[in-house]
Amino acid sequence: MEKQTKDRHRQAAGVIRPVVDPARCEGKAACVAVCPVDVFEIVRIPDETYRGLSRLAKFRIWTHGMKTASTPNAAACEACGLCVSACPERAIRLQRAG
Ligand code: SF4
Repeated sequence: MEKQTKDRHRQAAGVIRPVVDPARCEGKAACVAVCPVDVFEIVRIPDETYRGLSRLAKFRIWTHGMKTASTPNAAACEACGLCVSACPERAIRLQRAG
């Protein structure tokens, strides 16, 4: 999939960052595919994060291979919103950085 590069809501990098809800994310990588600045990667959910989830959320993540989205390049986010729209689990929200 070709990544989109223009959006009227964009802001300078570092103002807004994406936050992934680990209880909802199933690691399907839609965010990885659409983000124009490569904020996301799919990783194995950290043990500490996994332990803090409800039993239902743990089961969902286990059935999806213990994967979740992480944001190693969050500082590059330009607030285009493509990841929020693309996530099938509605697991991503944008918040002001800092
Ligand atoms: S809003 Fe989402 S898709 Fe857009 S730049 Fe930020 S992390 Fe990437």
